[in-house]
Amino acid sequence: MNRSAVIVTGGSRGIGLAIVEKFVAQGRQVVACGRGVRPRHMDPSVEWVQADVSKSDDATYIVERAVQRFGRVGVLVNNAGIQIEKTVMESTDADWDEVMGINARGTFNLCRAVLPSMVQCGGSIINLGSISGQTADPSMAIYNASKAFVHGLTRSIAVDHGPRVRCNAVCPGWIMTAMAEDAFAMAENPERAKADALARHPAGRFGQPDDIAETVVWLASDAARFITGQCFVVDGGLTSASPLQPRFF
Ligand code: NDP
Repeated sequence: MNRSAVIVTGGSRGIGLAIVEKFVAQGRQVVACGRGVRPRHMDPSVEWVQADVSKSDDATYIVERAVQRFGRVGVLVNNAGIQIEKTVMESTDADWDEVMGINARGTFNLCRAVLPSMVQCGGSIINLGSISGQTADPSMAIYNASKAFVHGLTRSIAVDHGPRVRCNAVCPGWIMTAMAEDAFAMAENPERAKADALARHPAGRFGQPDDIAETVVWLASDAARFITGQCFVVDGGLTSASPLQPRFF
């Protein structure tokens, strides 16, 4: 069994929690973090660190706690993220600091904190990107840009720190979590927006956190040993369709 630790940022709910649970089910030693106190539902084997990934000292502390408790870190999953629904014209300095601070700098902070030991002992980093980092979701300017940063950083780490470190990104589509529900709630008619989005999924359903967790665990495993520097879209086929509407034909 692999005894190295797995760090999952933003492990309290949604996709992060599903990732934590999947690694725990595999018998892995997991360190999870979030800004709040330890969630009551968290498996007792999980080391919980109350930390804010946007702060570089907190990122260092998360890695130190993982090393103190489990010896070394074999896998880092940068999942913590937030979104703010605004255009460039609507966005404030505070919006930039918050979204870029967590999604972009937070991912960078954790990578920088874990890489010195990973380049010695080997490991795998998986970053949560988004389909929004490849095509622009309307009124999500800073969020879209923060996820494009994550995709670029993923490739840089793979290139700069291979072969000891593999680094990949998973780019979810619509995954039913608090974040997705909040986004639908912003629509003029949330029910219609949901029905319209669902109709665009060749897979016939929205994604579930478990769909992303399965991909993350696979990328961390030895089965993915020749895969690095890639961004994997997991969206039920949403972005495979031509943007042209059938009425044009
Ligand atoms: P949720 O809002 O459900 O969960 C986000 C998690 O991140 C929570 O555990 C939250 O805990 C934590 N978090 C937020 N800010 C920080 C911070 N500064 N430091 C530490 N932890 C933090 O989001 P999802 O599960 O939906 O999304 C997870 C990831 O997947 C994100 O990166 C998101 O951008 C990405 N994604 C999600 C999609 C979706 O449809 N759901 C689509 C595409 C990408 P707390 O607030 O307590 O700190």
